[in-house]
Amino acid sequence: MIDREQKRTFGPVPSRRLGRSLGIDIVPFKTCTYDCIYCQLGQTTDKTVTRTEFFAIDKILRDVHRALDIKPKIDYLTLSGSGEPTLHNNIGKLISMLKREFSYPVAVLTNGSLLYEPDVAQSLMQADVVLPTLAADTETIFQCVHRPHPSLHFDTVVKGIINFSKTFKNDLWLELFLLDGINTIEETLRTMKEIVDEIKPQKIHLNTATRPPAEEFAYPVSEEKLESFKMFFGQNAEVITDFKHVMNQQTANVSSDIEQSILQLLKRRPCTDKDIATALSLHSIETTKIISHLVIKGKIERRHQQGNIFYKTK
Ligand code: SF4
Repeated sequence: MIDREQKRTFGPVPSRRLGRSLGIDIVPFKTCTYDCIYCQLGQTTDKTVTRTEFFAIDKILRDVHRALDIKPKIDYLTLSGSGEPTLHNNIGKLISMLKREFSYPVAVLTNGSLLYEPDVAQSLMQADVVLPTLAADTETIFQCVHRPHPSLHFDTVVKGIINFSKTFKNDLWLELFLLDGINTIEETLRTMKEIVDEIKPQKIHLNTATRPPAEEFAYPVSEEKLESFKMFFGQNAEVITDFKHVMNQQTANVSSDIEQSILQLLKRRPCTDKDIATALSLHSIETTKIISHLVIKGKIERRHQQGNIFYKTK
């Protein structure tokens, strides 16, 4: 078991899918079953399918209690963060305890790769919403987009998500991650639609690489194209648009050291200055000043993406 003092919660962060979400990060940074070309966290450093108790659940729960002490206004407790959360072998017990100790719904952001394992599927049954990802229609595209652990294959993973959807009683919101020229040709979309029809998710979230991806060739799909794909996938499909909520001063769990809070946030995902200001309930001018200071100190760097400037740690 890894004993790290870094706290396991972050935010509340503005999430495009879950409103205001308190992130609970239960695996070490970039410990994942995949190494997706579109990953906003960069390349995977520990590609594995070995499940273990990376962090003790009492320590994770302690961090959640601390984050919720100031009673921030949040919509979900979200198991997500900097890797694949189902790699934590005690995720099921953690979800039960979060449900018992707090009154917020629990969401799990997963790539879905391990749902074919009965233990993993069973461990997510108490979650209020599970959000797996689909980005391929064949083994070739699966390997190209996700660069998975060698033991993982398209058919097994897709069957795992389909079977899970048949037994899971709560909400399943499927993310379709689309990349221009890679998985957006008509034939691919048609096969993906057949898979979606078998999964029967309550919601379909059309997503693309709007933040700087791990590989430059992971090109985003334009908003217009995504809108046209929305029609194709049907009524419960929606394009994930930028978060519009504005949090008030009390809602964010801001540490006394604002620079540290920004660095912690950027370690997990690149953000625009607006994202940072919203996540940490900072005034925009204050945010701009601190960001400039961190850039000058060489702690963070800028990246241009689709007309926006994102910041990430170096
Ligand atoms: S996008 Fe998600 S599933 Fe893919 S490598 Fe990054 S953390 Fe893993």
